[in-house]
Amino acid sequence: MKKATRLEKILVRLEEFYGAQQPRGPTDVYEMLLYRNAGYPPSDERCAKGFEALMEKIGLRPKEILRAPDKQLAEVMKSGGMIPELRAKRMKEIADIVLREYDGDLHILLQQPVLEAQKALKKFPTISDACAERILLFTRTAAVVALPSNCIRVPLRLGYGTERQNWLANYREARAAVCAELQEDGNEYRRTYMLLKRHGDELCKAVRPRCLKCPIAAECTYYKKLQERS
Ligand code: SF4
Repeated sequence: MKKATRLEKILVRLEEFYGAQQPRGPTDVYEMLLYRNAGYPPSDERCAKGFEALMEKIGLRPKEILRAPDKQLAEVMKSGGMIPELRAKRMKEIADIVLREYDGDLHILLQQPVLEAQKALKKFPTISDACAERILLFTRTAAVVALPSNCIRVPLRLGYGTERQNWLANYREARAAVCAELQEDGNEYRRTYMLLKRHGDELCKAVRPRCLKCPIAAECTYYKKLQERS
């Protein structure tokens, strides 16, 4: 049997601590695009609130979104936080592309080769490479490694990549390092994403991480450095 990698052992510890994770938010491609744009700043909590308000008060179908008066849509988007007018505009943009280019069915987009699908996803507002990878992974379109873009500090602190000033360089380096220690398997990639995200949200915060409660502190490069300094 193949020996578990360091990352696999870390994931086991995180799973023992937090339990098995389920995706937060939708896993349908069109709904993921709406959800991503439903909150700002885009935390799960704000996106969920904006998305639920949209579903209840306007409806999610492209025609329903396009039919809604701009003012009403912006009012609904206030549930998801700041810049509601801009997010309302983005909702219409998404609905418009889906109707015009995909005849209302975005699943066609996912039937293309992976790189083409990723390129097509990036035509939608706010969808970066990292977001597109997450959509491909969680819609089960392709087994591509995706990391939680707002918790990239977690793998970096564990020693997967070196932290720099440039977010994209951090993401790419951490992604490559994580990828090297995982089996090529979509379920494993989803599990990794969700556990790293949960840890970043709960304990490994950007400011003042709660290292004394952390189940993987013994593996953490950042924590070791903190101890050496004190
Ligand atoms: S020890 Fe601290 S910095 Fe390291 S992973 Fe745990 S919470 Fe994050």
